[in-house]
Amino acid sequence: MRLWSRFALLGVMVLLGAGCTGQETAKSAPASKPHVDHQQQHTAQHQPPASGAIPQSKHASPASGTQPAKQPEQRALPDSKHTQADTRNNHWKGSTQLSEQKPSAQSEPLIIFKGSGGKKAVALTFDDGPDTYYTKRVLDILKKEGVHATFFVTGKNAQAHPEMIRRILQEGHVLGNHSWNHPDLTRLTPSQAVAQIERTNTVIFNLTGMRMLLVRPPYGKLNDQLEQRFHQLGYTIVNWSVDTRDWAGTPTAKIMRYVQNQTGPGGIILQHSAGAPGHLDNTIKALPHIIHYLKSHGYEIVTIPELLAKPAYVGIR
Ligand SMILES: [Zn+2]
Repeated sequence: MRLWSRFALLGVMVLLGAGCTGQETAKSAPASKPHVDHQQQHTAQHQPPASGAIPQSKHASPASGTQPAKQPEQRALPDSKHTQADTRNNHWKGSTQLSEQKPSAQSEPLIIFKGSGGKKAVALTFDDGPDTYYTKRVLDILKKEGVHATFFVTGKNAQAHPEMIRRILQEGHVLGNHSWNHPDLTRLTPSQAVAQIERTNTVIFNLTGMRMLLVRPPYGKLNDQLEQRFHQLGYTIVNWSVDTRDWAGTPTAKIMRYVQNQTGPGGIILQHSAGAPGHLDNTIKALPHIIHYLKSHGYEIVTIPELLAKPAYVGIR
């Protein structure tokens, strides 16, 4: 099914690349050559605008009108499970494919998969929260280890657990936008997709006075039109380079293998922080090991805005 939808959207391009489930993901991948090497290129190009990077006007959301500040963000919740699964597969394949087929229409990648790698740093990211079960456990571990991470939260979960949003920020972490309720944005109209992001931003703004600039689409999926639209609205689209597949009940040892095999300077590690009790137990078990592994191998663990040198928020706090 996805393929079809994709085809409809992307047309022939997709066909070549697709072949697999990951179509959607593919789209999300950087459209131009840069994708192939996602990891390095993105960062490099994206770095800059630290300042003005964000056009808020368009955000229209209520809260926005204010000023720009820069800081971390958050994202929403949803279904960790599907999301990841799709994304990973798709995303890797897709990116490669797209890159081969698309000329170089764009000067810089619209979707970031990793930092420039200029420094031996990595970012831990947790999607789908907050909740009061796993997010709490993740925060407890991060606090104990003295590490900061980026939480891509859903608006729906943020609204349900405002105390967790406050704790995330109080403890020095960053918030990113993961849509309102975790739909496949490529199956919505562009205005509906934008509304998913803005509605979540409104919740966070009302809680914090800040609007999030970092966006991770559910499943890592976007189409070319949405990539452009989000970019025009000033959002920084951030996917990942290291997929732990924690949502799938992956054994801790295997999660560690994914981390060891896929992590490099500039890496962005994907995990989750919301789900029914029992579902992400391996995420909690693996996290201390992941942190120890990274530290022992000389990696500095940073937040996404630090890794990419991009602002996480705009607004006042
Ligand atoms: Zn998700």
